[in-house]
Amino acid sequence: HFYRTNVVQNKIQNEGGEGDGDKVDLAEQSLLNKLIRHSLVKNRNQVEVQQADPSSPLFSVKTFQELRLKPELLQGVFSMGFNRPSRIQENALPLMMAEPHQNLIAQSQSGTGKTAAFSLAMLSHVNPDNTWTQCLCVAPTYELALQIGQVIEQMGKFCPNVKLAYAIRGNRMERHVKLQEQIVIGTPGTILDWCTKYKLIDPQKITMFVLDEADVMIAMQGHRDQSIRIHRLLNKDCQMLLFSATFEDSVMKFAERVIPDPNIIRLKREEETLDTIKQFYVLCREKEDKFTALCNLYGCLTIAQAMIFCHTRKMAAWLASSLIKEGHQVALLSGEMAVEQRAAVIERFKNGKEKVLVTTNVCSRGIDVEQVSLVVNFDLPVDLEGNADNETYLHRIGRTGRFGRRGFAVNMVDSINSMEIIKQIEMHFSEISLF
Ligand code: ADP
Repeated sequence: HFYRTNVVQNKIQNEGGEGDGDKVDLAEQSLLNKLIRHSLVKNRNQVEVQQADPSSPLFSVKTFQELRLKPELLQGVFSMGFNRPSRIQENALPLMMAEPHQNLIAQSQSGTGKTAAFSLAMLSHVNPDNTWTQCLCVAPTYELALQIGQVIEQMGKFCPNVKLAYAIRGNRMERHVKLQEQIVIGTPGTILDWCTKYKLIDPQKITMFVLDEADVMIAMQGHRDQSIRIHRLLNKDCQMLLFSATFEDSVMKFAERVIPDPNIIRLKREEETLDTIKQFYVLCREKEDKFTALCNLYGCLTIAQAMIFCHTRKMAAWLASSLIKEGHQVALLSGEMAVEQRAAVIERFKNGKEKVLVTTNVCSRGIDVEQVSLVVNFDLPVDLEGNADNETYLHRIGRTGRFGRRGFAVNMVDSINSMEIIKQIEMHFSEISLF
């Protein structure tokens, strides 16, 4: 239920919406997630496993020792501070390392240990005595490929004979001289060139193919087709592994096209709920009114930590600078900023160095809201048609798990239209809670 507050009460005026919210760039979003993540995302859901051959035994490991890794590799895993396999790793690791080899499609939200899992599988798979490329790993962007490479380098630091090469733009190589690196990781276009035009890799000798972030990949122009072209060059017996953070039909269709006889492992994300959140709305006349209401609330914002959501970058920038002019300390997180800058702001916020963060929708994913006790929707979340965007509302203020801490959400209502939206949101969630 919404509680109407009397911070500011004014007549409602109809005001046209503005709609140029941040564009979602999935690859950047994913990179941002990786830059700000230092530990596993908690997920108490059960892993669902669908086996290619349901009659074969299903293995799951509770320790890394059970995997019988080479000692230098186990040392690498422990040196990263990994004590035991994550939920998804418990099932994915024995499957990827089984003999005869098995193909895998794995889906779980970002931060659940997929990259670490396939990095370990690749390092364990290669024969360091063979100085040709045996594992190919395809990632959507240069930056994401580097992130994966860092994990492999760290995990493999006690395996001096295992070498890694980056097939990314700008990495110029001599033609027709076969690479000696056992693992190559890169973007689809460059990998394709290295296999065909430059002949640096013999695709027929690849025995493990990893396609990471399949959902991001197929959303990117050209990447989907290039991935399929690389896949066609490979030997039928090559082990195929595909990872994705989401699992829409389009991803599944693509996955089933490139991964024959797959085992499928899924870990559903934990549901977010509004159960422990007290929600209010404030009636305002227009933007300046909303600003005044926010200033009146400011003392409460800084008791713990708060996030303020705006619909557009422009609005977020205006609000942040107006608050600063009023003498309040706030940080701005905007899509205009380079991804490293955004990561730095989120880092400061996570460390408590910033108390109040003004942002737009897109930038907020990946920020763990557990620590935020107050969320202000300076603009209500709407979709492209201007209807209530319930999913985003839930994302902004919802908490996961039964033990979610209490929180407050304040919605700024500045028009008949936005009153309508808040009603739609209220109806949506009260209907849900009836079931
Ligand atoms: P994903 O690829 O699903 O986004 P990552 O493999 O990047 O997930 O893992 C997310 C974070 O958790 C990283 O910081 C990683 O170092 C850490 N991590 C991964 N596996 C483990 C583990 N078994 N134990 C502890 N931390 C882990």
